[in-house]
Amino acid sequence: MTTHKAATTADHISTDIFKRNESQVQSYARSFPCVFERAENATLYDSEGRGYLDFLAGAGSLNYGHNHPVLRDALLAYISSGGITHSLDLHTRAKAGFLEAMRTHIFEPRGLDYVIQFTGPTGANSIEAAMKIARKVKRRTNIVSFTNGFHGVTLGSLAATGNQHHRGGASMSLTGVTAMPYDGYMGDEVDTIDYFEKVLGDASSGLDHPAAVILETVQGEGGLNVASYEWLQRLERLCRRYDMLLIIDDIQAGCGRTGNFFSFEAANVKPDIVTLSKSLSGYGLPFAVTLIKRELDIWEPGEHNGTFRGNNHAFVTAAAAIETFWRDDQFAKSVQAKAAMLTQRLRAIAEKHDKGLIKVKGRGLMQGIDCGSGELAAAVSRAAFARGLVIETSGPDSEVVKCLCPLTISNEDLTRGLDILDQSVATAVASQRKPLSNVVAA
Ligand code: PLP
Repeated sequence: MTTHKAATTADHISTDIFKRNESQVQSYARSFPCVFERAENATLYDSEGRGYLDFLAGAGSLNYGHNHPVLRDALLAYISSGGITHSLDLHTRAKAGFLEAMRTHIFEPRGLDYVIQFTGPTGANSIEAAMKIARKVKRRTNIVSFTNGFHGVTLGSLAATGNQHHRGGASMSLTGVTAMPYDGYMGDEVDTIDYFEKVLGDASSGLDHPAAVILETVQGEGGLNVASYEWLQRLERLCRRYDMLLIIDDIQAGCGRTGNFFSFEAANVKPDIVTLSKSLSGYGLPFAVTLIKRELDIWEPGEHNGTFRGNNHAFVTAAAAIETFWRDDQFAKSVQAKAAMLTQRLRAIAEKHDKGLIKVKGRGLMQGIDCGSGELAAAVSRAAFARGLVIETSGPDSEVVKCLCPLTISNEDLTRGLDILDQSVATAVASQRKPLSNVVAA
């Protein structure tokens, strides 16, 4: 086996260059101040050769791990054969392969009939396209988003994003979106679908008739809040009754993260529009699409445009990922088994350190612990990093420590990462010297 040259300390790279030359808008790098150099599946290595288990996974962009060998080989073979890298939206063999893989392994087995719009390569690009087409179809401006939703930071997507820190970055008014309470937002006593229905049916409620609703089934950045299947089904019925399109933002929760390819499958709802990005390429390559029910595809040619619509390298790895992981239900079953293991361990961690505050939240391999305060959660993340685990926080006060490991992680690495998390909670709790409270199951 060759030793990677980064394994020598002689090659240490200082973080000074980043401090001196990178905008202070950088964020994740602040929590993990080292220089990463290579990676394999669930492990990142820094420039000194130190390994870290990766429970951040590119904020959900690396569901199949780092450098999956099948995807890497497909990409290398494509590049070596002189395959096209950039083609605007021209037809290419690579694009045909991706469309075919989606049709055969994703749409047809699920009885879905979407056309695929290739948008610019980020999640926000696909959200912009989704919101635009919904408004165009319904000839209405207003779109309903939900409290704690995160849909991106371009102006259109930011209008649908709840977080004030991000909204404030716009320095202008964000319009055309009304926020409604997400499932559970008002506590157990208030049924938020009842509330939404009430304002929809009241001509004096002040709510302009929405063209669409947009939501995540599990709110990734918003703190791992979960919409129950029943809530999602009732929301879908509300959409049909009030002539609103249902847009599911599956950018973070999709591509297997909650246990099926789409996060809405288990709820048996059929969105009109779906946004996908992050893990769609399977390899961490920038790639996003908007799935549109065929009858809603009323775009004029080129009406919504962009130079980097489609990324041929991403077509190749995405097709390989779909063919590798989604030809049958084996992979989904393995994710579900790991998710059950994760729930069990997180509950045990919460109980063990329970003096009241820690709650387990989330669904599938998108779960974490709500530490009750951003301070405690940050202390857990810091303590974990010191022990070789990269894990981030989310939620309105960054109070939720979020386990977002690759879905391909081995059971051993998952266990090891959770052992580190357990020790890190102990360290953080001790350092905070604050009482913790009751466990609430996921
Ligand atoms: N939607 C969801 C659910 C997300 O989690 C994100 C990013 O975290 C986005 C949209 C925006 O994607 P991007 O950052 O690629 O623009």
